[in-house]
Amino acid sequence: MKIVGTDAPDVERALVTGGLACPSCAGQLRPWGHARVRVVRHREDDERRRPRRSRCGRCALTHVLLAEDCLLRRRDDVEVTGAALTAKAAGHGHRRIAHDLGRLAATVRNWLRRFAIAAVAIGSFFTVLAHDLDPMLGAIEPAGSAFADAVEAIAGAARAAVGRLGPRDPWLFASAASGGRLLSNTNCPWAGSA
Ligand SMILES: [Zn+2]
Repeated sequence: MKIVGTDAPDVERALVTGGLACPSCAGQLRPWGHARVRVVRHREDDERRRPRRSRCGRCALTHVLLAEDCLLRRRDDVEVTGAALTAKAAGHGHRRIAHDLGRLAATVRNWLRRFAIAAVAIGSFFTVLAHDLDPMLGAIEPAGSAFADAVEAIAGAARAAVGRLGPRDPWLFASAASGGRLLSNTNCPWAGSA
């Protein structure tokens, strides 16, 4: 799996011209059909999307190209899951958040729990990333809980990235920076070798 931008024609052009690097060996990825159709749930509507599949010319591994507005194994886009995390950091409970987003309470509770379990590690990961992106960056202010600190660290890293990458939605940034694994429990960048 490889995280790519949300501009599909742009991604296709990069894929065809060998502009996408294999996440396993940095060889050139080439088109290799499509993955199964998946439904992406946006804030207002659902979208059926058929992700591109690619194959590395060097190591021959195949990688599905996942747009950065999606997280691995989550049907809701990162705008929705990110809004839930932001609301939780602001002190709202999962039922109210679910109601405001028009999602099931159990679904929202699941996202929040997943994030809470890894909150300290996520906070450290994005704090380090923020200072890597902007060595002049000041301290990221404590926000009152490990959960809120992690959300603040993501926002701080996204702000720090603006200078290098241009303005970008913090949650798209978080998705790309985590390889789509912001709400995963395996192979996240902060999970060490687990
Ligand atoms: Zn490769």
